[in-house]
Amino acid sequence: MRRARNAKIIATLGPASSTPEAIESLFLAGADVFRLNFSHGSHDDHKNRIFTIRELEKKVKRPIAILADLQGPKLRVGDFEGGRARLEAGAAFRLDMEDALGTAARAPLHHPEVFAALKPGSELLIDDGKLRLTVESCGADFAETRVVVGGEVSNHKGVNVPGVMLPISPLTEKDRRDLEFAVEMGADWIALSFVQRPSDVQEARRLIGGYVGSRVRILSKLEKPSAIEHLASIIEWSDAVMVARGDLGVECPPETVPILQKRIIKACRRAGKPVVVATQMLDSMVHSPSPTRAEASDVATAVYDGSDAVMLSAETASGEYPIEAVTMMDRIIQQVEHDKNYQIITDASRLDPEHTTRDAISAAARQVAHTLGAAAIVTFTSSGSTTLRAARERPEQPILSVTADIEVARQMALVWGTHSIMAKDVRSFTEMVAKAVHFAQSEGFARVGDRVVITAGVPFGHSGTTNILRVAEVEEHGHQHRHNSD
Ligand code: PGA
Ligand code: MN
Repeated sequence: MRRARNAKIIATLGPASSTPEAIESLFLAGADVFRLNFSHGSHDDHKNRIFTIRELEKKVKRPIAILADLQGPKLRVGDFEGGRARLEAGAAFRLDMEDALGTAARAPLHHPEVFAALKPGSELLIDDGKLRLTVESCGADFAETRVVVGGEVSNHKGVNVPGVMLPISPLTEKDRRDLEFAVEMGADWIALSFVQRPSDVQEARRLIGGYVGSRVRILSKLEKPSAIEHLASIIEWSDAVMVARGDLGVECPPETVPILQKRIIKACRRAGKPVVVATQMLDSMVHSPSPTRAEASDVATAVYDGSDAVMLSAETASGEYPIEAVTMMDRIIQQVEHDKNYQIITDASRLDPEHTTRDAISAAARQVAHTLGAAAIVTFTSSGSTTLRAARERPEQPILSVTADIEVARQMALVWGTHSIMAKDVRSFTEMVAKAVHFAQSEGFARVGDRVVITAGVPFGHSGTTNILRVAEVEEHGHQHRHNSD
């Protein structure tokens, strides 16, 4: 079973999509990666989903990636009398550390680090930016504010302090428990929310390093202005990145989000790190069986820009049309990738290889595959790096990623243009060529007469540099021979 597209689809699981039947349908409709959102649901809920996904893998015989998304330090107001209050524009409103229930004049905010960071003139946003307050005076445990944009606020609504670097770890106590659970359950990717600086990623890496044998990879969610300021170094420390447009559009003016999205995608592509565009992609499909034209266009833009993956959140987690949303995303991606203009844009946006052997080989593989009109590029990889560098080239041909490591096979499900295959390490060139040809054929990528381009690193079975390039032709009866390119 193979997908007919490069860009991948991440589907968030939730109450609307947690039965084995629902998860299988999402996979068949096109979901390559399943996201577990630790802002919702119990460990038992997530455990059942993970179990279901691993059973599904056996049934469909395809590696599937699981992305465990940690809630992060999401700031929240406390509770209100009667559960809610209406703040009037122009009114005074106090936030403090008292336990008394909130009213239209004050509310509890049990985050001393917020008060420590505020200054007169600072802005506070409540409920995804729907309400706006300006700080007039403040101390270590209170802030007197003026309501700029009023509205209703209810228990536990999120609070954002745009433009302020908060001195808090991106991993709360809950995140640490969730991280341990996700690692134990064998999640493939961990998503870190509200990353502000490279040290946030380093801290997560140190924690993960404490779990013996875990090679779970880190995806940093960029949703704070401070993350944008440290973009290059955060990308360097992360294994992948998400343009988390929900919170990003609250912390930064919404009109800057499209520009930041393009900047982040470009920076990730330059680094060769997978990049995900997320949030509200097909939002109207939460309640409607078809998307708005603007949403279809949004997905298309992310694909034209060369994102590795596009993500569905509420659309699949709690929406009324989860399968339709994945099907629609799959169709939009395929349409874009069949557009002649897509190839032109992809060629024009290709980045120069770094001056390394592995990039020289990866760039040559793309070029050779193009010149020969090859059917596929087959990468042999133990760490995934050969595959990631091949994907950075954004070749016209599908990339087959052959690995002996099930974790790597699953992780690569997030990567642009990549089809993972599990196989024992090869020990010789002859075996490498035979396997490449065999898999290209058996997985439906090549037919007799087609050529495949193969890259690998010798010695085989060690993660190290990519240093060989071969061309092989698919011949009748499973035979093949090397071409005169070697
Ligand atoms: P969230 O992250 O849905 O976990 O908040 C994505 C975003 O903020 O866009
Ligand atoms: Mn977020």
